[in-house]
Amino acid sequence: MSPLERHDLVSPIERALVVISHPDDGEFGAGPTIAALTAAGARVDYVVTTDGSKGTEDPDMTPEELASTRTAEQRDAADILGVTDIVHLGYPDGYLTPSLDLRRDITRQIRRFRPDLVITQNPQRRLDHNPFIGHPDHLATGEATLASVYPAARDHLNFPELWREERLEPWKVRQVLLTGVEEPNLWIDVGDTFEVGLRSILAHASQVKREDVEERMLERARLVGEPQGIGLAQAFLSIILE
Ligand SMILES: [Zn+2]
Repeated sequence: MSPLERHDLVSPIERALVVISHPDDGEFGAGPTIAALTAAGARVDYVVTTDGSKGTEDPDMTPEELASTRTAEQRDAADILGVTDIVHLGYPDGYLTPSLDLRRDITRQIRRFRPDLVITQNPQRRLDHNPFIGHPDHLATGEATLASVYPAARDHLNFPELWREERLEPWKVRQVLLTGVEEPNLWIDVGDTFEVGLRSILAHASQVKREDVEERMLERARLVGEPQGIGLAQAFLSIILE
């Protein structure tokens, strides 16, 4: 297989939409990159597909309490990154499939927010000995989001009720970035935004502790950046649709 063509971000990016499965996926997958986008003047919004109600080892925690804690943590993290709106689709955590309902719900948000750039999760299960083989919710969110970008959001006869009843016009996304990929083709310099990205992860206090993530995140950003001649970087698989 020939290597992927190297991409840059399309220009200009006025609006970006981040579609993720759980509160904290946006920050772990792309926090410093999102901070760089908002610092450059782009509006960034989030769609969180599940309610995040299963991410705990505490036997006394109820799913309702956890979901509400994580919703609040997501808002705090988004504020740190300069993110504007967060739409919670509220599907049950852990059970997500790339259904037509999910595709329609994501298509609706793409047509509402009209993003130039969509950031979402890798829809392919990794079998390259990486311990992160792919959470089923991440695979489903990535698959449904790509199917929404193309063709559902751009074709008015896909989910015609969105156009006829909700008056949502078709929309063409220009670029998609996938997180958690085996073979990236786009690198973002996050030297100026690494710290704010780290702070956004730490806002998820029910999920992370500083001592567990700080060194790991720094080492990862160094490992990703150094072969590219960048001090600290995040890497993505970029797809350009124009
Ligand atoms: Zn997740």
